[in-house]
Amino acid sequence: MRMTLSAKFALRGWKSLPYALVDITTGESYFITSKTFNAIIDATSQDTAYLQESEVISCLIRENILIEEDRELFDYQKYKQYSSRYIKNAHWAVTNLCNYKCKHCFISAPTTTRKGLDTGSCKMIIDKLEEFGIYNLSITGGEPFIRKDIIEIMQYAKSKGILLTGIFTNGSLLTKKHINAMLAIGLRPTFYISFDGWETHDWLRGVKGAREKAMEAIALLKKNHLPVHLTYMILKKSLKLILQDLDSLAMLGVDKIRFGLMSSTGEWSKSGEAHNVSFKEVLEHIVKILPEIIERKYPFSIDVAGIIMIEQYASKFRIPMDKGRIDDELLNKIPCCTCARNSLYINPTGCLTGCEILGELEGEHYPNIITADADSLFCMSHGYSKLANRSLGDLFQVNRDCQTCQYVTVCRGGCRANAYFHSGNINGVDNNACTFFKGGYYEQILQLMEALKVCRCE
Ligand code: SF4
Ligand code: SF4
Ligand code: SF4
Repeated sequence: MRMTLSAKFALRGWKSLPYALVDITTGESYFITSKTFNAIIDATSQDTAYLQESEVISCLIRENILIEEDRELFDYQKYKQYSSRYIKNAHWAVTNLCNYKCKHCFISAPTTTRKGLDTGSCKMIIDKLEEFGIYNLSITGGEPFIRKDIIEIMQYAKSKGILLTGIFTNGSLLTKKHINAMLAIGLRPTFYISFDGWETHDWLRGVKGAREKAMEAIALLKKNHLPVHLTYMILKKSLKLILQDLDSLAMLGVDKIRFGLMSSTGEWSKSGEAHNVSFKEVLEHIVKILPEIIERKYPFSIDVAGIIMIEQYASKFRIPMDKGRIDDELLNKIPCCTCARNSLYINPTGCLTGCEILGELEGEHYPNIITADADSLFCMSHGYSKLANRSLGDLFQVNRDCQTCQYVTVCRGGCRANAYFHSGNINGVDNNACTFFKGGYYEQILQLMEALKVCRCE
């Protein structure tokens, strides 16, 4: 009997990572050895009666990677190797236009004068993602659904084998027609809907009735069994209302709530200071209400500004700022920013950067994905590569504070965007991370969670 590759897998390879199985239904890549790769090629190209003796083949059969079926590999499953290095995700602002007037808009949509891209240029961006072997795409804006051609863009990405994993939207322009069209082409992305508190949402969004619109969008998505995450920006006024808001949101059926902190960019830098809450204030308050959050066992996951991530029903927790202890000798070699190492950001004019936040500060200085070739896009002189290809050792050469810090093996220098915001120096320390670790909150939260008997995710 002939063997073939399960339909959900495709064979791919990138520079320095030549062999991988990509699960096209989830966008996950599993890197494999040349021995496993060759076993798959052998097993799928000839009668495999004798191959089943092989330990590698038996294991691939057990894992349902190889299946018994008399067919060749589908075209999309055949091995493709890319000359660029592996990048897992692209996060793309498909427009800088929006129907809202949010006071904190980091992309300054309410006052933008930047010219966005037409349909043809958007398709050229997708062609480039395909050329670089980037299989996961999330879309943001501006407001993505303000584009009349948004479904056409999604459909084009799908036709190129690119998986739409997420859409960031204010929800107000989302219609049943959009959902039906997406479902018809097999798209089930996670929807990230902005919701900033019962009392503060309309004020922050600058539009009366925005809260109801968000609720309608959530109801529509849940009716269609699509995953919904809420993104909730914390203000001075809403900090004390977090518990109350979590209680009210428990009935909506959303999957996750992600609380975020304002940064002084875009519109917010003009008017937001008086409404800001500091990272320390958030930490203090979270430590105070953590026992209540755990006790109430909310039916969704909660991510509090990267401080703590609590899973559904308070079953487990994670501390995102703890990046996992690493041996001293490896420390110098690991990427300074793993986020940017795995993901790139494309701004509304097509400029490519490593990070949404830093990108919007200096976006137009970065190369444009439509016109630049791979060599110039990923060369070390550009902002993207400076962030993505930089090692912690490189950072240590200009940052002795992090190098000698007792928390460096778990903090790994924190976030470069935060460092930039606090000191104007991308090589500086991340003040939030310093407050968290050196201020004793890290230990305090660990002890609290131990006392509350919640397991930590490894
Ligand atoms: S909804 Fe998003 S893109 Fe639109 S103005 Fe608000 S923050 Fe900006
Ligand atoms: S806690 Fe501060 S000084 Fe220490 S590694 Fe993190 S950012 Fe650097
Ligand atoms: S600098 Fe910070 S926000 Fe930007 S990609 Fe790195 S970790 Fe993420």
